[in-house]
Amino acid sequence: MPAMSATLPLLDTDSTPPAAPTKRGILDVPAEELRAWLAARGQPPMRAAQVRRQVLINRAATFEEMSDLPKILRAELAEAFDLFSTRVERHLTAADGTHKLVLRLADGGMIEAVLIQDDGRATACVSTQVGCGMGCVFCASGLNGVVRNLTSGEIIEQLVRLRNLTPKPVAAEKNPISRSPSRKEVREGATTGLADRLTHIVVMGMGEPLANLDNLLDALAVAGDKNGLGIGARHVTISTVGLPVKIARLAEVGKQYSLAVSLHAPNDELRTRIVPTNDKTGLDAILAAADAYFAETGRQVTYEYVVLGGLNDLPEHARQLAGLLAGRKAHVNLIPWNNVDGLPYQRPHDADLEYLIDTLRKSAVSVKVRKRKGSEIDAACGQLRRKVEGERPV
Ligand code: SAH
Repeated sequence: MPAMSATLPLLDTDSTPPAAPTKRGILDVPAEELRAWLAARGQPPMRAAQVRRQVLINRAATFEEMSDLPKILRAELAEAFDLFSTRVERHLTAADGTHKLVLRLADGGMIEAVLIQDDGRATACVSTQVGCGMGCVFCASGLNGVVRNLTSGEIIEQLVRLRNLTPKPVAAEKNPISRSPSRKEVREGATTGLADRLTHIVVMGMGEPLANLDNLLDALAVAGDKNGLGIGARHVTISTVGLPVKIARLAEVGKQYSLAVSLHAPNDELRTRIVPTNDKTGLDAILAAADAYFAETGRQVTYEYVVLGGLNDLPEHARQLAGLLAGRKAHVNLIPWNNVDGLPYQRPHDADLEYLIDTLRKSAVSVKVRKRKGSEIDAACGQLRRKVEGERPV
């Protein structure tokens, strides 16, 4: 998960969360079921779309305020369903507009979701599972394994809750930032305001997205819908540990989602030590699946490389990585390891990072060091959840 650079004052916004919900969240009720529920109360099917619009577009916080619905129906809805199935266990904000939510699920599990606001963009970083089963040795999310997949409603809810933290839209003429700024505008600093909606999604929170692909795709369909959150597929990045069969399935979906593959090592021996699932997949199959994804979708694949000082940042690794990716239409994001309490890894030295960058550039591989947002609010995967779990019995 991206993290912020400077240390900023934090605000713990929700210290006394309300009682846990016991009813189903409305976003987890399939449209057909909701229509049948409405029909049983003499209501036309279009009411289902109205309810969803209220949550997805109008930012309704209660059924009561859905003023385009009959009053009696609002009361019946509130009786049968919760507007949200999660509650905010912890809400941290940083001065530059980054928000981190720890959400408590109806069954007690906890997940994290982060909103990053910069350059007129509002990017939601969402989780797909409670915990993670991939076991990458440097990552906090998987330290206790995976508990379960999130439902599509729980994934959408993260997006809606984060979107609700962006400024409310005002009339177009009063608000020049009611759309994504162009690159030129961002470069020229023409946009100083905050986006009034989500502009981007990165599926880089807790969990392995491709291990919960069906629910993720359902959630992203709502995210992409003009009657939903209206976020185009090209503004969605799905980050995976590298599951070749699932990457092939994602390519078949025919959407323009960006794919990010967590590589973290340039040879199988080292990768298997850092990313244990590599034992079953191997680099060749992952690269072949990523190449096929690019061929099928035309979307350039990003390779993420968490840089672990002294472990995967030696000159030979730089050369091997360059050799692996040279000639591929690929981009590398180097991510200096974000400290996780209790884990024995190191952040890289600047000189080693520079050597990696130079070596890749000399081989014409595009590379950037990822600016990490929210590090002071533990915005890297799974870290804040661990802290909150440590404080309270789950
Ligand atoms: N399961 C997916 C999503 C994981 S989170 C995947 O493996 O891609 C997104 C990225 O953050 C991954 O590349 C992950 O390896 C990386 N990451 C996790 N913990 C980190 C840490 N402590 N420091 C830096 N990057 C980390």
